Amino acid sequence: MSNKLNIVLFGPPGAGKGTQSEFLIKQHGLVHLSTGELLRAEIKEETPLGMEAKELMDMGELVPDHVVIGMIRNCIEAHHNAPGFIFDGFPRTKAQAESLDSMLASKSEPITAMLALEVSESELVKRLLKRGETSGRADDKNEDVIRNRIREYEKKTAPLKDYYSAQGKYKGVNGVGTIAEITARLSSAIG
Ligand code: AMP
Repeated sequence: MSNKLNIVLFGPPGAGKGTQSEFLIKQHGLVHLSTGELLRAEIKEETPLGMEAKELMDMGELVPDHVVIGMIRNCIEAHHNAPGFIFDGFPRTKAQAESLDSMLASKSEPITAMLALEVSESELVKRLLKRGETSGRADDKNEDVIRNRIREYEKKTAPLKDYYSAQGKYKGVNGVGTIAEITARLSSAIG
């Protein structure tokens, strides 16, 4: 068995994955891999990849699997001495989950657990519109785009619950409460 801690932080947009990642990183010294942040960095640098991704992101659609899989592969290789990773916003499709498993299997460092933050849709929309006032993210400002992101999640990402449950790795956590309360729930889920 590997002694590395590889956590997938799962949940719909606005569930609090980014906020709660910060605690997990500090607590366990994990390397944070957020495909959303990596893509926003590409957009800022105005790279061809960033320009292609921006159009899809602005509509609340997922970017193609091969794009995010390539990014994650590069990051895992760049941090091969890390005590473990926290995957935030990845995987979002079954193809991404299968690629991640095969990347980690080749290093004998499998996913330890998928921690899923559970939050109702009405609460998500409320949180994201509020975040849109300060985040500077175009995809947080428009309610139609927010609802499309939630639809994409339900259609393509939510089925990953079954994928990780079948491996005995899915752990649902109530994502409503204060930041500290949710942090405490995540801590006890990690054990
Ligand atoms: P996030 O910061 O995780 O909310 O991601 C923002 C946007 O980036 C998403 O709405 C997608 O358009 C894109 N994105 C981020 N991660 C992925 C992924 N793993 N697969 C496909 N698209 C992604």
